[in-house]
Amino acid sequence: MSNYKMLIAGKLVEGNTTLDVINPANEEVFATVPRANQENVMTAIAAAKSAQQLWKNVAESERRVVVNKIADAIAENAEELAKVITLEQGKVLDFARMEVQFAEAFCRSLASHEFPVTVLEETETNRVEEHRNPLGVVAAIIPWNFPLLIAVYKLSPALVTGNAIILKPAPTTPVSSLLLGQIIADIVPKGLVSIIVDNNDLGPVLTSHPDIAKISFTGSTPTGKAIMKNAADTMKRLTLELGGNDAAIVLDDADAKTIAPGIFFSAFINSGQVCIALKRLYVHESVYDELCDEIATLAKGAVVGNGMEEGVQFGPVQNKVQYEKVLSYIAEGKAQGTVIAGGDAPHQPGYVIPLTVIKDLKDGCSLVDEEPFGPVLPIIKYSDLDEVLANANNSKMGLGGSVWSSNLDRALKVAAQLETGTVWINQHCAFGPQIHMAPAKESGIGAEWGKEGVKEFTACKIININKA
Ligand code: NAD
Repeated sequence: MSNYKMLIAGKLVEGNTTLDVINPANEEVFATVPRANQENVMTAIAAAKSAQQLWKNVAESERRVVVNKIADAIAENAEELAKVITLEQGKVLDFARMEVQFAEAFCRSLASHEFPVTVLEETETNRVEEHRNPLGVVAAIIPWNFPLLIAVYKLSPALVTGNAIILKPAPTTPVSSLLLGQIIADIVPKGLVSIIVDNNDLGPVLTSHPDIAKISFTGSTPTGKAIMKNAADTMKRLTLELGGNDAAIVLDDADAKTIAPGIFFSAFINSGQVCIALKRLYVHESVYDELCDEIATLAKGAVVGNGMEEGVQFGPVQNKVQYEKVLSYIAEGKAQGTVIAGGDAPHQPGYVIPLTVIKDLKDGCSLVDEEPFGPVLPIIKYSDLDEVLANANNSKMGLGGSVWSSNLDRALKVAAQLETGTVWINQHCAFGPQIHMAPAKESGIGAEWGKEGVKEFTACKIININKA
C-alpha cells in the first residue's frame, strides 16, 4: 500500500508493486509510491487515445479554461507541492515554492498561445491555408531536477493544443507528479491525462508504441539518443531537451565585483542541477585572480544542507548515482587544478556536496569537457579570445553560453560566435515561459516554451483550394 496513487485512464489507482522514494538530504525513505507495469501503460495509452478523439473537437478556448483550472489547482495546493518537491528533490523549501510558482506561471503562459488558421496565399483563383492540428497522444518523459515544473510545462501545451498526455516522472522524483495527478483528476476529462511511475523500465514501452504520436523528453543526451532510435520505426515527433555544458566567457574589460554574484548564482542554482546552468568559466587573465577570489568567497559563505532547515541555501545532489558522479568529477578537478572552495563531501547520510570551485583547469579535463550536473564550477584562465572561443565551441553540447563584459558591442560580437541555442550577456540561465529554448548540436532537437515550443505539439496541415 502506498501513500500516493497513479492517475491512469481517469482513475486513481495503486500499482501491483511499489517503489520507495528516498529523501536525498538524509537517505531515508519518505514515501512509498505505486509502480506501473506494462499493462498499466497499455491501459493509459488506450484511454488517452479515445479521450483525445473527443478533446480534439473541444474549442481551443474551452481547452484553455481547463488548463487554467490546472494552474488554479497548482496555486491552491502550492505549499503541499513545495514540501514534496523539497523532500524528493532536495532543493531548499523557498526554492521549491518558487518552482511551484513557476509551474503555475508556465501553465498559464503556455496555454495562452493561439493557432488560428493562417492564409499563406490568396489570389482570385487560389487560397492556401495553414491549419495547426493536434498530434494525438503525447508521452512526456521527465528528469529529476525540476520534477513539477517540467511536468507542467509539457502538460499545459499538450492539452491546450488538443492532445492527450501520459507523464512519466523520473523514478527518484515521482511524488510531485503523483500529487499533481491527484489534484487535477477531477479537472481533466477522464483518460486525457495519465501519470505512471516506473523504475527506468517503461520509457521504451512508451517511445516505441504506435499509438504515441510524440515524445517530449527532458533528460540526458544518451537517453535522448536511445529515444530517437526507439521512436524511429513509428516516425514519432520529438522534442528533446538534453544535456548542456554551458561556457561563460569573461572579457578583459569586465568588472569582477559586479559580475561575481551573477556568475555564482547561475553556476550553483539548484546545486548546479540545471541544464542551462553555467558549467565552465573562462576568465581573461587580467581579471582572473580577482574574479576567482570573489566567487570563492561567495561559495565558501553558502550554507549547504537539508533543504527543509531554516537558513540552508543550497540542497543536496538529488540521488546517489549523481552524487558519486559529481564526486568523481571533483576528484579529477582536484588532481588537475587548485580547489578554492569546497571540495570534500561531509561524512554523513545524504548527498550533500559543499559548493566547490576549482581554478587553474584546462580544456581536456573531464570536469571542463563534460557536464557534471552538480555543485562544482571549473575555472579556466585565458589570454587569447579566438582561442577561448574555439575551446568554448569545441563541445558536442550547444544548449547555452554567456559573455560578460562592460562593453555591449564587444560582448555582442563574441556572442555571435558562440555555437549555442541561447547566448546571454552579463547574465546566464535567465529564462521564462515566453522565450523559447532551442538547443544546438547534441543538446537536443526542437524547441520548448514560448509560441515555438507550443507549436511543436501541433501538426501542420495545408488546405489548398482551387477557387476557379
Ligand atoms: P535520464 O536521461 O537518465 O532520465 C530522464 C528520464 O528518462 C527519466 O524519466 C528516465 O526514467 C527516463 N528514461 C531512462 N531511460 C529511458 C529510455 N531508454 N527510454 C525512455 N525513457 C528513459 O536523465 P536524468 O539523470 O534524469 O537527468 C539528468 C540529465 O538531464 C542531465 O544530463 C541534464 O543536463 C539533463 N537535463 C536536461 C534539461 C534540459 O532542458 N535540456 C533539463 C533537465 C535535465
